[in-house]
Amino acid sequence: MNLKWYLWIAVCLIALLVSVLPVYSQQFLQSHTGFQISTLGALNVGVYQGATTIAELKPHGDFGLGTLEKLDGEMVILDGKFYQIKTDGVAYPVTDNSKTPFSAVTFFRRERSLHLTGKMTYQELEQQIDKQLPTSNLPYAIRLRGTFPSLKVRSVPKQIPPYSPLNDVVSQQEVVFDLQNVSGTLVGFRLPQYLKEVNVAGYHLHFLTSNRKAGGHLLDGAFLNPVVDVQTLQDWQIMLPNNTAFDQASLE
Ligand code: ZN
Repeated sequence: MNLKWYLWIAVCLIALLVSVLPVYSQQFLQSHTGFQISTLGALNVGVYQGATTIAELKPHGDFGLGTLEKLDGEMVILDGKFYQIKTDGVAYPVTDNSKTPFSAVTFFRRERSLHLTGKMTYQELEQQIDKQLPTSNLPYAIRLRGTFPSLKVRSVPKQIPPYSPLNDVVSQQEVVFDLQNVSGTLVGFRLPQYLKEVNVAGYHLHFLTSNRKAGGHLLDGAFLNPVVDVQTLQDWQIMLPNNTAFDQASLE
């Protein structure tokens, strides 16, 4: 081959690298970034006004959880699809113009799988995962797929203003579902204690059945040889609401 050919091949290789690298590095960054809307502290005091639309949330993740405007049920985001589980236990597709007052998403790309053995409660599952995580000081996206011996999940009903604090709604109005031998996916996060005013510290998981017709916020469960997919999130971003409800909430 003459010099012209070598030059031509070199130019092609450089062009390929230049075009692929930004896409690759953007995907790497996205899959290591957690993105949340508003704060748990605001939700706790009843800031249920929608802060952003689902269309605006979508570019930030294909996996996650949250709730909808007026605290209208539990939201689960899996494989880029958004579902709302209402108090009938049914998972409804969420439209792009729906709004969310609180949610957290990421682009889930499995970094590793933890294979746990034996039968365990939800609390034991948390302890087992904790033992295998390299640090409890970083956020993790968590995914469990499979058939679960039992899961206790809940949803909450749409609220009417003036809004009651989250704890009151949950203690007085939550609707609980006991699912037996149910297959599906648990979607969520394990966050460090230092984020506790910002989001749920520790584990927060929402469930979606494999036919994507039902689910809820996980309260308890029994697990048999669970496989836990984990993604470390090096970056945690917060988008704060631009509304008077948030501005005037007592978050001190
Ligand atoms: Zn939840």
